[in-house]
Amino acid sequence: MLTTADMKPSKMMRPLHGRTALVTGSTSGIGLGVAEAFAAQGATVVLNGFGDRMQIEDTRQKLEQSHDVAAFYHGADLSKSAAVGEMMAYAQAEAGGVDILVNNAGIQHVAPVDEFPPEKWDAILAINLSSAFHTIRLALPGMKKRGYGRIINVASAHGLVASPFKSAYVAAKHGIVGLTKTLALEVAQTNITANAICPGYVYTPLVEKQIADQAKAHNIPREQVISDVLLKAQPNKRFAQVSEIGALAVFLASEAAASITGAALPVDGGWTAH
Ligand code: NAD
Repeated sequence: MLTTADMKPSKMMRPLHGRTALVTGSTSGIGLGVAEAFAAQGATVVLNGFGDRMQIEDTRQKLEQSHDVAAFYHGADLSKSAAVGEMMAYAQAEAGGVDILVNNAGIQHVAPVDEFPPEKWDAILAINLSSAFHTIRLALPGMKKRGYGRIINVASAHGLVASPFKSAYVAAKHGIVGLTKTLALEVAQTNITANAICPGYVYTPLVEKQIADQAKAHNIPREQVISDVLLKAQPNKRFAQVSEIGALAVFLASEAAASITGAALPVDGGWTAH
């Protein structure tokens, strides 16, 4: 008689078995969803991000147990280039190097340009853009040596269009789309691809908090906040789920996506079709 273990696909059969995926900012939200999607396909994962150490350890262990993969964590503060270097060295030493690099960590601050705190500008540029330059430059030699690499930058619809009061975020996200295209051209003949995913609103704990805050601030119901405030520019009036971003990242890492490079792929319910 077949047991459940017999029916499980063998470890070796999973498409990303033998690959290591490092996902920055993967202690919550989109990054965690992407890390889970890679683990489900058999990849070793390296997590990064802030949060409660016990919760992070719990997440790491659950990833290992649910998906029968190795999962590592490095808590580098990506605003510091030396810390990025330490994280990449850790991934090399513990997980054998990075085959799939997902630059996802990001922060936001909203204010008019002439009131924008310079230290917030510097932090957003450092975390949302410069950290990706550092992870990429340090991951590339190993990818070239192994003859395979997938670089996936989580940009935003704001990498393609702007909104007022988000100058640093829009500048950083446009910047990462530019970095993605430049990189794609440089490595085009090396079986390394570079693409940007450009989500509109994705349902994460951060967005849930925004719904509650906006409902309170405007004294309007939750449904109205979603449709008239947050999803005003998103024609399908629905949040994408983190699993949808994870599924796209997994596809971009696959052999089927070998010719997709230098692209900025909107996952925005039609926002940037306006
Ligand atoms: P989130 O706040 O849930 O996750 C951000 C992650 O980045 C966390 O793990 C956090 O600990 C980490 N992080 C923040 N600062 C860091 C630092 N200095 N060093 C290391 N890690 C740091 O946010 P999210 O909504 O999941 O967003 C993830 C990415 O997706 C961001 O780049 C964001 O700009 C982009 N994005 C999100 C949405 C959305 O609607 N949620 C839409 C478009 C783009």
